[in-house]
Amino acid sequence: MKESETMTEAKQYVASIQQMIREKDAGQTEFIQAVDELLPTVTAFLEEHPEYVEQNILGVLVEPERIIQFRVPWQDDKGNWQVNRGYRIQYNSALGPYKGGLRFHPSVNLSILKFLAFEQIFKNSLTGLPIGGGKGGSDFDPKGKSDAEIMRFCQSFMTELSKHIGPNIDVPAGDIGVGGREIGYLFGAYKRLKQYDAGVLTGKPLDFWGSKGRTEATGYGLVYFVKHLLANDQDSFEGKEVFVSGSGNVAIYAIEKAQELGAKVTTCSDSSGFIYDPAGIDLELLKEIKEVKRERLTEYANQRSSAEYFAGESVWNLDKPVDIALPCATQNEIHKEQASLLVKNGVKIVGEGANMPCTIDAVEVLLEKGVYYCPGKAANAGGVAVSALEMSQNSQRLSWTKEDVDQKLDDIMLAIYETCRDTAKNYGEEKNLMMGANVAGFGKVAKAMLAQGLV
Ligand code: NDP
Repeated sequence: MKESETMTEAKQYVASIQQMIREKDAGQTEFIQAVDELLPTVTAFLEEHPEYVEQNILGVLVEPERIIQFRVPWQDDKGNWQVNRGYRIQYNSALGPYKGGLRFHPSVNLSILKFLAFEQIFKNSLTGLPIGGGKGGSDFDPKGKSDAEIMRFCQSFMTELSKHIGPNIDVPAGDIGVGGREIGYLFGAYKRLKQYDAGVLTGKPLDFWGSKGRTEATGYGLVYFVKHLLANDQDSFEGKEVFVSGSGNVAIYAIEKAQELGAKVTTCSDSSGFIYDPAGIDLELLKEIKEVKRERLTEYANQRSSAEYFAGESVWNLDKPVDIALPCATQNEIHKEQASLLVKNGVKIVGEGANMPCTIDAVEVLLEKGVYYCPGKAANAGGVAVSALEMSQNSQRLSWTKEDVDQKLDDIMLAIYETCRDTAKNYGEEKNLMMGANVAGFGKVAKAMLAQGLV
């Protein structure tokens, strides 16, 4: 076949899969967005590898291996019967057991979990560790619930989930609304229903086989990724003005590491508004408010005279000079207009701590203006990478030191950065880390799928 014909065929093939998803999964907007973000960027790779087009690898890949949906009944503190919807998407096991977090948030639906699980396949592939892709969660809202209500909900959720997971089958972890407390209750429930098996969940508290460094891993990993990108241009975090969104697990530890490396972080947010603190975020105060007292950011503004609070506003509408933006809250936070504002204000790097925080047209603006765009599937892979290290420690019945885990995390983030950089360059798209991440992540999964036959 002539090269030009192959090229046409690969492009047509990719477009036909995108069209099929739009028709079959109409209404699943986040999932369609994730597919549309990835597929066109692997066209050049498919042109080089017509075997994947011939065997319809994309068609097989976009279909989850399994979706489990279930009822989660639970009783509130007043004795009322409540019910939520629970899910687990076991998307792809070509590289290992399904692996990916659980999200508890009222917005959770099939579209959001399918987008997260789809992204997770390629993220996990990029880590170089033996893990497949999955995700799960519930439309349960942990905000304002008592500890007893959270515990009863987690026990009910695990009553069903325990039938589908296991250390060599599917290993969930945390995500939005699921931290150490929830993982503890989920683990206790699993143990009672099945048996003690440390490797069934990651992100466990240290008292029962959690990994040192897991809490910090996603935020630290994000900053390590950007650190290596800066170092490649003989630059560093020293003296950089950094905007962060979110004030949860990822945001807090991204702020901590960026500050440690000499940056000035001036923003953080929650779903009610954002803080601008030109003196630099007081991390101790932020941790006290968010991690210990579980309060809102208005409390930060009350206690810190240098801070301004913007109720109901997005960080990304802040019209101030910025060098590095680290969105660490949720999907679709940065739209085209906000990307343009960041560019106008001098942003050089946008590193995604959250999953898909930039819309497709926001990414287009950033790439067009020569901003380094670090996609979540590469830049926030540190969390799942340390989860995989937690699985290794659980299998060995050993606990590594925090320094050891942190060094491994830094090495993994360097390897992911270099893979994205070099893959993009090989395909003539220097600086396009999204293309590098997508091709490298996809290439490995596609090869494993082909080698395992039609399953
Ligand atoms: P947390 O629940 O710890 O924190 C989430 C933060 O984002 C909170 O400040 C929350 O505010 C804010 N937020 C959530 N939803 C919205 C919304 N719709 N609008 C505005 N703000 C919102 O979650 P994580 O820090 O764990 O996760 C943050 C992001 O990072 C997610 O996209 C997640 O998928 C991604 N991620 C997480 C990993 C991990 O290891 N935890 C690994 C890789 C990616 P509020 O408290 O008001 O809800």
